[in-house]
Amino acid sequence: MSDLRELYQEVILDHSKKPRNFREMADATHHADGHNRLCGDKLHVSLKVQDGKIVDAAFKGSGCAISTASASMMTDALRGKSVEEAMALFKLFHTALTTPATEEPEHVDDLGKLAVFAGVREFPVRVKCATLPWHTMELAVKGEHKPATTE
Ligand code: ZN
Repeated sequence: MSDLRELYQEVILDHSKKPRNFREMADATHHADGHNRLCGDKLHVSLKVQDGKIVDAAFKGSGCAISTASASMMTDALRGKSVEEAMALFKLFHTALTTPATEEPEHVDDLGKLAVFAGVREFPVRVKCATLPWHTMELAVKGEHKPATTE
């Protein structure tokens, strides 16, 4: 498990230092802002949805390593997925991160690379950082233009 944990930390560190899809999207069809007051993370998530499919996903903002890495990996994971698939993935991600640290989360393998964030469960304060991009994505998809908060 310790090797695995090291790998997890490496992946998160890599994405926080070199975030993917960190840019403005001029032709976004959906966008929303998210704010995690507990940590100070502020994110803007942009999506381009065509025929119910997410063809592009990007983010901007400033946040801690966990929220930045989560947004980076989320935007990678969303591209090419239908809105329904994106919501199902969020549900899976949320369940994995809110399962008590003493229990093994279900279907964690279905998360693919995103499973690295399951380790965040041991640090409850960080769970909000990791889920902020997803809450913001959900808000963007629903087209509600008020900031997402993790409260
Ligand atoms: Zn944070």
